[in-house]
Amino acid sequence: MDIEELQRRLDELAQQAVTTLREAGEREEAIQIKNRYLGRSGSVQELMVVLRELPNEAKPVAGKAINQAKSQIEEAFSARLDELAEEQLQRQMREEAVDVTLPGRRQEVSLGHPLRQVERELIAIFDELGFDVAEGPEIESDYYNFEALNFPPDHPARDMQDTFGLVDGRLLRTHTSPVQVRTMEAYDVPIRIISPGRVYRCDSDLTHSPVFHQVEGLLIDEGVTMAHLKGTLTAFAQRCFGEGTKIRFRPSYFPFTEPSAEVDVQCIFCEGEGCRVCSDTGWLEILGAGMVDPNVFEMSDIDPERYTGFAFGMGVERIAMLKQQINDIRRFYENDRRFLAQF
Ligand SMILES: [Zn+2]
Repeated sequence: MDIEELQRRLDELAQQAVTTLREAGEREEAIQIKNRYLGRSGSVQELMVVLRELPNEAKPVAGKAINQAKSQIEEAFSARLDELAEEQLQRQMREEAVDVTLPGRRQEVSLGHPLRQVERELIAIFDELGFDVAEGPEIESDYYNFEALNFPPDHPARDMQDTFGLVDGRLLRTHTSPVQVRTMEAYDVPIRIISPGRVYRCDSDLTHSPVFHQVEGLLIDEGVTMAHLKGTLTAFAQRCFGEGTKIRFRPSYFPFTEPSAEVDVQCIFCEGEGCRVCSDTGWLEILGAGMVDPNVFEMSDIDPERYTGFAFGMGVERIAMLKQQINDIRRFYENDRRFLAQF
């Protein structure tokens, strides 16, 4: 091989190398290509053998030509590496780009379950009227749930409340009235409490749930009359359902009060005109109330000759359903966030 031939081969190799390097898709590929030409057994390196066979005067020219080819390939290699690094950076910036125009994820703030909200509102109203909050166990004895409240054994009134009994003879309280008994036992008169809490009855449909919530009230003092009861419940209704809301009493029966009354509130939807919600009566039944039966006082060692008192009770679900216009009680217990988020 003479010097011209060598020069031609070098040009060819360098040209080839530069073209292939330009198309290298990634860094590793570029390194492999470079090694194919400049590595220990690469195509350019192989031509070094030819150098030895050339006449001495041709050697410097040939050496220079080889070095030129080498540096041409080196340059193409490092240029391609730079390009690849830049492409990689661009790709990364595209992929990891943050779109600052996207709406942020909203932090949800809960005001509490709709039942809890209504319960809190009821407690606040009675707190303003001077009632303390009293609480008691949800698993009760027959004595506190029935007997001390003037439900004698085998009294048909027990059937008014379908009870969950436990194997040990105790039961899940059917109302929060046992708290009233416990309060009368533990504290001296005057007593003015409300007892909010969970209660249980074997009952389930659109308006009944086996577990529901009550707020009951008890006030005992000297000279308490039905007028005080009516005044208290009127004050409550107007705070709960709006200024000017009227209430009415209808005679009823509960074992622990005498006389007893169902208490209706003027329909909050039609203001007494008559509508679908109140079945055209203009009234909504929301409370049971009455004057504490003297038998109940005697069971708890309170002198019925000296003291009188009134009691009332209401369902938190019933009031929540009315205020929030919910027609299925089960919605409160399904934990559907789409439902709960509306409150
Ligand atoms: Zn109505």
